[in-house]
Amino acid sequence: LLDVDDVYQSYGEESVLEGITFEMERQDVKVLVGPSGSGKSTMLRCVNRLTDIDDGDICLDGDSIYDLDADELRRQVGMVFQDFNLFAHLTAIENVTLGLKRVLGLSEREAVEKAAWQLEEVGLREQANSYPAELSGGQKQRVGIARALAMDPKLMLFDEPTSALDPELIGEVLEVMRDLADEGMTMLVVTHEMGFAKQAATDVLFLDDGKLVEQGPPEQLFENPEHDRTAAFLSRLT
Ligand code: ATP
Ligand code: MG
Repeated sequence: LLDVDDVYQSYGEESVLEGITFEMERQDVKVLVGPSGSGKSTMLRCVNRLTDIDDGDICLDGDSIYDLDADELRRQVGMVFQDFNLFAHLTAIENVTLGLKRVLGLSEREAVEKAAWQLEEVGLREQANSYPAELSGGQKQRVGIARALAMDPKLMLFDEPTSALDPELIGEVLEVMRDLADEGMTMLVVTHEMGFAKQAATDVLFLDDGKLVEQGPPEQLFENPEHDRTAAFLSRLT
């Protein structure tokens, strides 16, 4: 589904990603971990072209993402951000219908129907007409997830979706993500929640200083990492 092939990226002189290669099959759930500044957010941003790469290629179902229309790419690849990125002046359901109307071209009625169903799926039926300021962090993030899912993406990217949440609200968001994983959604997730990684990940990828140091099933990375750096990093997290 996703083929990241020897990707290099830099901001000016500063090299951020240095030859990242990995693949994702349908239904894979890959968790990307690494120290602050190692390039995790940049890697996600490259996949839906919020950031351009300098070298290498990224293919979605065999086509370079640079051959796809950017709107179409972002429809196929949903993204969930740490700080939710909701429109404050729009209600929960309006945040979800916006893309359905603008990108998918649904009518108002079709968009509202689909958005209402999607909000119900993430447990927010009652909050459809609330504004972001009236929602808890966990509810806001579930709106963010519903908004991405409503577009029927092939792949979902999550960039530290629970890092901005109070501890008691993290669980409700992880539960939605675990359900998604169980339903077979293909997911690339940056998170420090190692419980989620152990339960839901098919693979954990350890990124350090722009390089993919090691990747493998969670049991292997947590219990028997090949590299000292991986072991040192993970021991600090768990
Ligand atoms: P964190 O865990 O803190 O979120 P990260 O692994 O997501 O870190 P990135 O945000 O991808 O790291 O940043 C990687 C490097 O790129 C950092 O050195 C950062 O300062 C730099 N960087 C990120 N975004 C930009 C930008 N828009 N312009 C210039 N440099 C940037
Ligand atoms: Mg980041």
